This record gives sequence, structure tokens and C-alpha cells, in this order.
Amino acid sequence: MTEDSEMKVALVTGAGRGIGKSIAEALAKSGHHVICVSRSAESCGPVAEAIQASGGSAESLAVDVADRNAVQVASEQFLEQHGTIDILVNCAGITRDGLLFRMSDADWDDVIATNLSSCFAWIKHLARPMTRKRWGRIINISSVIGLMGNAGQANYAAAKSGIHGLTKSLAKEFAARNVTVNAVAPGFITTDMTAELNEAQQTAILGMIPMKRMGLASDIASTTDFLASEGAGYITGQIFTVDGGMVM
Ligand code: NAD
Repeated sequence: MTEDSEMKVALVTGAGRGIGKSIAEALAKSGHHVICVSRSAESCGPVAEAIQASGGSAESLAVDVADRNAVQVASEQFLEQHGTIDILVNCAGITRDGLLFRMSDADWDDVIATNLSSCFAWIKHLARPMTRKRWGRIINISSVIGLMGNAGQANYAAAKSGIHGLTKSLAKEFAARNVTVNAVAPGFITTDMTAELNEAQQTAILGMIPMKRMGLASDIASTTDFLASEGAGYITGQIFTVDGGMVM
């Protein structure tokens, strides 16, 4: 399918695999044109091609979200092409775990730049046209770690808590313009990111989840798809934990 003028345009970062890929697929299924962004064309390209092959509308671009200049250039390109990005999903993220005394400056800076500052950069460039159009959805993917903290993840927890503050502040700034800003905080989801956990860590995690299973990327995608919908228009400034009951 090719993009038609009635379609809303959604941009999903981290769409090359895992949760972002699942979100891109769900938004395409809901009838949106989806721009799939990830670090490499080899990951986001095939995701956009698969969406098109199954009858959806999508395109892709490799952008390093930690590079402010690259985000600005890509944003200008997308706005020129599409006029407005209606739905922005900030999902790109990395972990660089380590206890504080062993955490390098680079591990701190990379995690903050990729997980948190990237949200600021995309929103700064893409939100103004949403406010002019009086319609927009911004959904930031954070983590339950941003609510609970976690030994060995001070950088990641700080970035994800930062997303919560950013989300609530911008929800207040944009509310009168009908642009909603929410966060989805996944618990432990089966993806390449959590595949790095060893068996003992996985067992410990299952012990903390009342539903006794890890989540699926599609669990996060369906929540995000709802928040992007017309029906979620009166919800803003919220953090939605999707975690099998871990944080209550
Ligand atoms: P993943 O590692 O499988 O995928 C991450 C995606 O982000 C990839 O497509 C990668 O290309 C992209 N990415 C990373 N750095 C980038 C950069 N600098 N520029 C552009 N793209 C970049 O991860 P995932 O498990 O799918 O996680 C997705 C999001 O969900 C992350 O923000 C993560 O923190 C969050 N999250 C995941 C879990 C989980 O259990 N998997 C739990 C809570 C939160």
C-alpha cells in the first residue's frame, strides 16, 4: 500500500527489532503510514519492507538518535516530505550496566544520550507542527526500572526516570493544543535486550512478576497503539506500566 493523504504519519525509533519493531507493525496495522528508524538500514529497512509486503504503508531511515545533528537533519527531511508527523514513538534504547564505581563516563553519557536526550531532540523538532495542527500523540518508551531503580543500572534508571519527568512536563505544555504525551514503562519483555540476562537473573526476575511470565513485545505494542489512537485523546501525562503486575 502507498501512503494516502488521509493516513496519519507515525515515526517509531528503535524500529529495527524487538519492541520498536512490534510497535511499528501494530501502528501500520491500524492504518498509519509508519517511518521506521533505527541505527542501521540493515535493521529498519527489512521491517518497513515487511510492512509493505503485508499491505501496510512504511518507509525507513537509519538515524543515530544519540546524534542531535542527525536527528535535526532527519526531522527536517520528514517534515518536508509529510508536513506533520502525527504520532511520535521514542523507543530506541540501550543498556550499559555496571555498579557505580565501575561505571565509566562513556557508559553514563551513552545511555543518557540514547535513551533520554534523543526524546528531547525528536520532540523539539517534531512537536511544533503537531501543536499547530492541534493533534498529536507522543509516546515515550521508558521502563519499570525508571520507577523502581535497579542496582547496576544507575545510568539506565536515571534516563528512564528522566523520561517520566519530560513526559509529565511536556504533557502540561502541550495539553491545550490537543497533543498528548504519555510514557509506556515495560517490565521484563522477551527481546534481544533481555536475552543477555543469565539463567539465575531470569529466575530471579520471574519471582518478582505476579503473572509469572516475561512480557511479549506485542504487549507493549498494543498499549502504544491504543495511546496513539483517537480513543486515547483525553489521556495525557501518564506512565503506563505493562509488567505483569510487578509495580502496583
Ligand atoms: P532492542 O535492543 O531489542 O532494540 C533496540 C532498538 O533500538 C534497535 O532497533 C536499535 O537499532 C535501536 N537503537 C539503539 N540505539 C540506537 C541509536 N543510537 N540510534 C538509533 N537506534 C538505536 O531493545 P528492546 O528490548 O526492544 O527495547 C526497546 C525499548 O524498550 C528500549 O528503550 C528499552 O529501554 C525499553 N525497555 C525494554 C525492556 C525489555 O525487557 N526488553 C524493558 C523495559 C524497557
